[in-house]
Amino acid sequence: MLKQCPCGHTMTVKLRTVIYQSKVEIENVPIFTCEACQRTEVVPGVKDELTGLIHKLGQPEFKHQIRFEDVHELAHLMQLVLDKNNRSHSVEELVEERVNQLLDLLLLAQSLGDADWLREIRTRLAQIAKHDSRTYGLS
Ligand SMILES: [Zn+2]
Repeated sequence: MLKQCPCGHTMTVKLRTVIYQSKVEIENVPIFTCEACQRTEVVPGVKDELTGLIHKLGQPEFKHQIRFEDVHELAHLMQLVLDKNNRSHSVEELVEERVNQLLDLLLLAQSLGDADWLREIRTRLAQIAKHDSRTYGLS
């Protein structure tokens, strides 16, 4: 997942903490970063969810933290890919493993008849399906 920066260098994806209204820390947001000019840009694939999350937060009264991987599956996958302990696995393996995990959960949620949980798992699977494995080609 690379992108050309207006300055001419290549932007790479990093998981960064976004601080909202100096109260809420949103951790592990995938953000394009240019090493040369320090320009940053939220990855388009997660922009809608991030905007929705911020909209929901409104005017936060207390300091707190949110893990973006709980909101968006792409952040979860990127965290797996960037984890040093997973270096021996290919990105495809990690994605496949995660999909299998979600499918197991889907079966479980189905057998429990938990409609909310089913919806959440389907959303996560759809978030993965929207991006092919090249998306996670991190350097
Ligand atoms: Zn740049």
